[in-house]
Amino acid sequence: MTVRIILDTVRPPETSWCWRNDWYSGMCSAYALVLKFGMLNAVSGKEIAKAFISRKCGIKSETCANPNVDLRDARLFDIEIMAEAFRIPPREVRATFLFELLPKSGTKSSEHLRWCEACMARGFHTPIFQMTLVSACPIHQMALRTFCRWCGQSIPYRLRQDLLAMPFCCPHCKADMAPGLRDARASVLVPRPRERIALGETVAFLRLEEETVLAKMEMERRVQQYGQGELIFSRPSADGRMSRYIGFVSQVIDHLRFAKVKAQATLAMEALERAERGMPAAAHPDDEDPALQYPSWGNQIERMSNSETVGEPRGEAEMRSVTTVYQAVRRHLWKHVIRRHRRCVIAAARHLWWRTDEETTASFCPVAEAYIRWRMSWEGCGTPRYLFGAPRRAFYGVLGWVSSRPSPCPSHWSRPTQHWVIDHIFANACVESFRERLADAMENDAKGTIHWKGAFRPVRYDTYWAVTGSDVQGDPTVVYLRCPMPHPAAAYGLPGGRQHRKTHLAQLATIVR
Ligand SMILES: [Zn+2]
Ligand SMILES: [Zn+2]
Ligand SMILES: [Zn+2]
Repeated sequence: MTVRIILDTVRPPETSWCWRNDWYSGMCSAYALVLKFGMLNAVSGKEIAKAFISRKCGIKSETCANPNVDLRDARLFDIEIMAEAFRIPPREVRATFLFELLPKSGTKSSEHLRWCEACMARGFHTPIFQMTLVSACPIHQMALRTFCRWCGQSIPYRLRQDLLAMPFCCPHCKADMAPGLRDARASVLVPRPRERIALGETVAFLRLEEETVLAKMEMERRVQQYGQGELIFSRPSADGRMSRYIGFVSQVIDHLRFAKVKAQATLAMEALERAERGMPAAAHPDDEDPALQYPSWGNQIERMSNSETVGEPRGEAEMRSVTTVYQAVRRHLWKHVIRRHRRCVIAAARHLWWRTDEETTASFCPVAEAYIRWRMSWEGCGTPRYLFGAPRRAFYGVLGWVSSRPSPCPSHWSRPTQHWVIDHIFANACVESFRERLADAMENDAKGTIHWKGAFRPVRYDTYWAVTGSDVQGDPTVVYLRCPMPHPAAAYGLPGGRQHRKTHLAQLATIVR
């Protein structure tokens, strides 16, 4: 009997491999890297497996005989040899594997290729495309493909013989997915700085998602242990910078971690505002004011009615509550911020008696402009003079803001707590929107003109928030908010004296209907 022994002999890295440094684009996936390598060297999947599969993995011979390796996972690969072949540091080779980049992405990523056609046409593919959460290419804003355009089949995200037989072609119908590479002067996509930022922010966001999920799991564990905790975040605003949102969320998570170990947070918390909802002390039945019969009973009815109204519009009580907050903010601004410019405001509002939408006028006292425009947007009022007319019945801007937002609280929380949370978030957005108006007005003042854009949409005023706690004694609801940024300092330096008012009135006089 003859026994064939196959020795898994040490194989030195080939020195004759061909590679073009300009074909390495950075932030790319192992998939793109391996296929480009296969294309330049015209080698089969077996040969690539022979070159790159690690001897230490223990299954090198089987793998090389019939390679079928998940390209999200680096464990079977020899990173050192790959680094040598691609002439990049091992750290960068690791980053081409999704599970190295995002270690907890297993169930949240696809084992079939997900790609952007525009990127793939020029040989670019990044591991984050494999995340099912990523639905569009951060560079081209195109929806990612999951099936071949021509034959409708999915393409395995693996190192396999059939995929290397014709690199960057559909293995089923052979359609060419990267015509840009076939030319002698191939135009390989190398992300430009702006595109690198977009890709980088997407990775940061995905990492944050992982962390948030972990923090949530930790909170859920606490729910079971101590009956504590919920953690709900606002979504990143569409126009806001992702990095600002990430900064906010990470800070909240850090704060919660510190709170958990009862240590002092060492972070600078100036950008975070924290509000805790006071809970009424659990009253003993004997101590109760006889006038308040069975308040706990009342509370239960309230909670029960909550569950019946899940999904319904949240109605008038909430609108009333938010309107009260709006009026309080308005009073606060009038008293403490407008101060020396109250007469400027009144003079300007009296002067502008018509609808100013889309008009361009001379500028006037910026504090007055900011306040008038801020009120116009929240009150849904197009004519400045009406601001000081008969009291309005409804503030349409406020109404729009409330009705366009889903409730941030779990529906089983008590109504008063839900209102309290919304009130806090609203107050923050409301104050922040005044700062924006003031900054705009200071700019207009410098330019000398105001363009009264027709549709200010207060709906847009988003703020970052996080809600945690359980709305029960011992674990009250806590709201975290990003602190409103300070008002432009120059606005406070404005003299409010006679000279200022004279200039203001002269400027107003040039505005005629
Ligand atoms: Zn793309
Ligand atoms: Zn196909
Ligand atoms: Zn003024």
